[in-house]
Amino acid sequence: MIWPALATTSAAALAAWAVRSPRSSLLGPVVWQGPQTKRQIALTFDDGPSESTPALLDLLDSHAAKATFFVCGANVRRLPGVAREIAARGHELANHTMTHQPLYLKSHAAIQREVVDAQSEIAGVTGAPPKLFRPPFGCRWPGLAGVLRQADLRLVMWSAIGCDWRLPASGVAARLQAAARPGAIFCLHDGRELTLQPEIAATIGAVRVIMPRLGQDGFRFPTVSEFICPTPSSNVLSR
Ligand SMILES: [Zn+2]
Repeated sequence: MIWPALATTSAAALAAWAVRSPRSSLLGPVVWQGPQTKRQIALTFDDGPSESTPALLDLLDSHAAKATFFVCGANVRRLPGVAREIAARGHELANHTMTHQPLYLKSHAAIQREVVDAQSEIAGVTGAPPKLFRPPFGCRWPGLAGVLRQADLRLVMWSAIGCDWRLPASGVAARLQAAARPGAIFCLHDGRELTLQPEIAATIGAVRVIMPRLGQDGFRFPTVSEFICPTPSSNVLSR
């Protein structure tokens, strides 16, 4: 019979979309863009801090740009000085789990441990608990929304991803340039999961290319918390 097979295929596609799509709110509230009323773009960097993060911080300073760093607790434990430097330069630190394990198929207790351990590691090193969370590989799972609610964390995804783990700087810059618009949230990486001394030349090269262009176009670069509207009735939230 074709009909049950089609229904099964559709259910699987819907489940995959719910778990993986940056804009899916089926598994809980998600922020994937900011207000479209101002010429602002939020730059976000995942998987740090790493030994390569300070070079990125210098580059951002040279453009008076602020960014949001979704850090792994294990990397913060390894490089606490870099984590503190991110905060000291006015950027935002956010939670990207403790060990960057994918959350799918994980138990509620395991998801909670990943989130809570990272939260206390980051708060212990920087003095402030994060307000935002992004799951590894962008994958959500049932139970995550409740854990985030308990930890007072908002889930933040993106409107455009640079694919900087596989593209050269020119390719990353082209993707971001094409996606530049008021309210965009760009996802890049200043680390590679828990890898020591990760290679992020493509990321830094792309940021170096796009920042002057976007600056000439009148864009400013706040942190995500500065960027998103705090009123729940805003169209920033997709519930
Ligand atoms: Zn990641």
